[in-house]
Parts: sequence; C-alpha cells; structure tokens
Amino acid sequence: MKNQRDVLRLVFSHRQREGGGFIVRRPFPAVGITQVDPFLLVDELGPIDYAPGKAIGAPDHPHRGFETVTYVLEGELEHEDSSGERGFLGAGDVQWMTAGRGVVHSEMPSRRLQEGGGRVHGFQVWVNLPRKDKFIEPRYQELKAGQIPKAQTADGLAKVTLIAGEALGAKALTETRTPLVYQHWSLSPGAVVEQPLPGSFNGVVYVFEGEAHVGEPGRAVKEGTMAILGLGEVVKLSAQVPTQLLLLAGVPLNEPMVRWGPFVMNEPFELEQAAADFQTGKMGSIPR
Ligand code: FE
Repeated sequence: MKNQRDVLRLVFSHRQREGGGFIVRRPFPAVGITQVDPFLLVDELGPIDYAPGKAIGAPDHPHRGFETVTYVLEGELEHEDSSGERGFLGAGDVQWMTAGRGVVHSEMPSRRLQEGGGRVHGFQVWVNLPRKDKFIEPRYQELKAGQIPKAQTADGLAKVTLIAGEALGAKALTETRTPLVYQHWSLSPGAVVEQPLPGSFNGVVYVFEGEAHVGEPGRAVKEGTMAILGLGEVVKLSAQVPTQLLLLAGVPLNEPMVRWGPFVMNEPFELEQAAADFQTGKMGSIPR
C-alpha cells in the first residue's frame, strides 16, 4: 500500500482587499505562513455579484520573478500588458502567465461585466520561479475551457479539471518550469479518490465549496479552509456533500525567497532593482 499523506495543518483563509479594492479569500500568505514552496499565494476571487458599474479589478501593475495563474469559474476577465498582449478569460478558461524578468499588466472585469454587472468567481495562484528562471522572457499560456483536459472516476462521482499535472489517466497541456500539480476536483456525495502525488512534492488542498475529507484516517476540511499535506505518495479525497476543491502540489525550490508586493526574488537587492526597473519604465507600460 502506498504511503498516505496526512493533513499536517489546517489554515483558515482570511479576507483581504486587493487590486482596485476587490475582496479575496486568501489562505496564504498569512501570518506564520509566507509560502508553501513553490506556491507563493492562493486567492479566491469572489464569488461576488457586482451591480452595474461596480465591478472592480486590478489596473496596471508590474510583476517579476514568478508566475500568476488565473482560473475563471464564473464571469469574464480582460487582460492587457506591456508587450501589447491582450486576452479574454471566460468561465473555465485559464491564463498561465510567466512574468519572468517583468511585465506590467492589467486584470479587469470585461467591459460587458463592468457595464451590466454580474457574478465573478475564480482563483489566482502565484507560483515561484527558480533562481535560474527569474529573468526569462515573459510568456503566456492561454487555455480555453474546451482545451483543458477533464476526467472522472468510473462511478462518475469525482470529476477533475487538469490545469497542471496528471490524474485519472488524463494530463494537463500546460508547460511548467518545475513539475506542478494544479487540479480542480468536484466531488459528489460518496466520492472517494486516491490521487498519486510524487513524494518530493509539497501539497495543499483548498476547499471552496462543501466539505472534503482529506487523508487516511484523515481530517474534515470545510469550505474556506486549506489543508497542508504531509509527505507521502497518495492523497485520499472523499466527500459526503457536494464539494469543490483545488489540489496544488509541486517540487519545493528550497531557495531564498524575498517578496515585496508584486516582486518575488532571491535576494533583497533584487527587490530594490525590480522597483527601480519598474519606476524607470524598464518593465514597459501598456500601449493604449
Ligand atoms: Fe497581476
């Protein structure tokens, strides 16, 4: 029998104001938990119902040294950046942005949503880049909902969407700089899954609807709570109520990490350099 991962710790998300003033539910970073190497941040955006004219986003801001992964469950987001790149994310779409040496971008609700109002629900996860990749060329991987592999158990009770990594014989299309798992599981009552995870990966489970049972013998993990997993080769997920969760895992970089707002580097002087490069326009600006 494979070594089951236990729940080491439960982390209750807190509410945090971000970007132009929207509220996110954030398990980490938080006091006492700066990262789960290589993951730097997990934000659940909404679900929030905006009235017409009230939707807010994150206008022009820079990033350097890591990746931002945006996954839209409901609503529409528009993206623009300093390379002239523009993107539109609808329900189920993913944008995997490798900021590398630096971009300036904006992430806003679509014009239609800003004018007419509507619901927004999604995630943004920050993934650190290893030292050797901090200054690579910025890159985007845009995945439309229909292109993202999905799979389910034989009984149909557990369904998975594969943003990174493999499960139930299906494999994500995303190219990652280090081996990663980013999976969205939907569990119906009675669902039981044993998902392999390489033993060297750090892993977390963030439940955003219902209540999952994680590990064996395991712990109950309620909506809004993140379970930090111990080491092992398999994580057991089950549920008795309709439940949705993210399973995130990756090889820890085990490198020095310093962060200041939108910059995540290895050494403090690199943060000062990043701020100076942004202020002097070296990360560009959005052509409008
Ligand atoms: Fe951003």
